[in-house]
Amino acid sequence: MSGVDTETAVAMIRSAGTRLAEAADELSGLDAVAGDGDHGLNISAAFADADARIAGLEPESAAGVFSIVSQAFNEGRGGASGALFGAFFGALADRLSSPDASGLEDFVDGLDLGSRRVREIGRANPGDKTMLDALQPGVDAARATLSLGQGEVAVFAAAAAAAQHGADSTSHMHAKAGRARYADAGAVGTRDPGALTCAIIFRAWADVVSLRAEGASETHSHGAARGAVSTDQAGLDLLATETGHFAILALDHVRSFATTMRPLDPDSLTTDEMRAAKQQLIESLSGSASAILIDPAHAASQSGEASSSATTGFVLGIEDADYADAVTKPRLLPGWSVERAARAGADAVKISFYFDPDEDTSAAERFVTEVVEQCTSHELPLLCEPLAQIRDPGDTRRKVLEGVRRFGSLGAAVLKIQFPHGTKGTQSRDSWAEACREADALSSSPWVLLSEGREFLEFRELLTIACRAGASGFVAGRAIWGGMGVDQDALAISAERLVDLRSIATSEGSPWNQRRATAISSIPASE
Ligand code: ADP
Ligand code: MG
Repeated sequence: MSGVDTETAVAMIRSAGTRLAEAADELSGLDAVAGDGDHGLNISAAFADADARIAGLEPESAAGVFSIVSQAFNEGRGGASGALFGAFFGALADRLSSPDASGLEDFVDGLDLGSRRVREIGRANPGDKTMLDALQPGVDAARATLSLGQGEVAVFAAAAAAAQHGADSTSHMHAKAGRARYADAGAVGTRDPGALTCAIIFRAWADVVSLRAEGASETHSHGAARGAVSTDQAGLDLLATETGHFAILALDHVRSFATTMRPLDPDSLTTDEMRAAKQQLIESLSGSASAILIDPAHAASQSGEASSSATTGFVLGIEDADYADAVTKPRLLPGWSVERAARAGADAVKISFYFDPDEDTSAAERFVTEVVEQCTSHELPLLCEPLAQIRDPGDTRRKVLEGVRRFGSLGAAVLKIQFPHGTKGTQSRDSWAEACREADALSSSPWVLLSEGREFLEFRELLTIACRAGASGFVAGRAIWGGMGVDQDALAISAERLVDLRSIATSEGSPWNQRRATAISSIPASE
């Protein structure tokens, strides 16, 4: 589409205001390190004021909306940031109020103009540890994405990712402007509050724009969407237990399969041996699984045999995880497509890919959207597995949940996620459960827990917590067969584990079809 209409502009301001109010304490806390500790208050007061003014004045254009925001900042409680945000929103309003301004490009021009005004008035530059360190990269990323011919969703997503990256980078900077420059050591080690505010605003805007784009395509293809939902439903039935839960056995591992089967000498496991071992696992465990996830190489070697069971669904994992650019450019295995998976007899398709919410994730979002399109035309459900790259366990919750937010609404039938909380150390289980409930609230589709190579007993506990919070089951591999081998005793233990996990899923988890019913009935109510 073109630019930002009045309704979208109002939603952008409301959403940013809500998120900034939630972050007010954190923002003031950052400001207290080197400034006077009022930033969170200043910002949320200005947005609340803007919101009230918008409700009273009922502006009729996006320019009108941003002009009101500018006034609220200029006439507000002050602070250096008040005047600077006032100037920023004023410039955006100016640019959008020109008679021929209606497109996305005008909006990006407006952001650019706003950033320039902030620089002129504040006499600071990028690198000085101010709001400009998020604002400028955000604007630049929007411009660059626009010039690649991308639409509004990608443009705003790129701006949000770049602004977040910029805000995080201020942590290492030495303050050269604003009150913070008087602080000891220029506040090195903490992020600049104004920069974080910009990142929060851009993230809110990106989410509003992507939600509205989705809403539009839903209304547009209403009939088609209903049809898609019902084929989807039939498809998911093939993967679930009779109670509507997922107890999926994962055997799509290649390298890690060899490492766990032969830890001391993984390379000695030949392709034939791997194939035979997987086939033995399938034969002895498939009766207890609601579906089996395998890799195309194995499926091909079985020439359709893998799908022979009538009650056990067959999911094919067709992403290419094994090449140099896997992180930045997710793709399907060369030669593979959803169509080919359908021909091979798959009941569903799975894609996993890595992402870092602090980097630009638009390539991964496009990847998911493309595979969703293919799945829709071949009437196969998609299991989407976004794998957050986590360097610091303290980031687990934020990153996994952000993955649910970014990838959960792109049309996949089921989301397959990591446990959304770090599990090392002695934190209370309450916060683990809370993180799971948050994942549940954020996810518009049913979600399942993956075992991430965890030990059986640990996974068993995490699965219980996740299912009680709303998960619909699991996709587990190594927690079931890892380190076990395939002799009769080992197979018996693996089978017991699978049955045990399955009964946790069916007794504690949310059936996917009940969940889906709520999701469908809530569509008209949402915007
Ligand atoms: P004050 O510093 O007056 O208390 P706030 O606490 O609301 O105002 O805002 C502080 C933020 O304002 C800083 O984190 C920084 O991002 C931004 N800021 C301060 N001075 C400048 C400047 N000269 N140029 C750009 N941004 C600035
Ligand atoms: Mg302050």
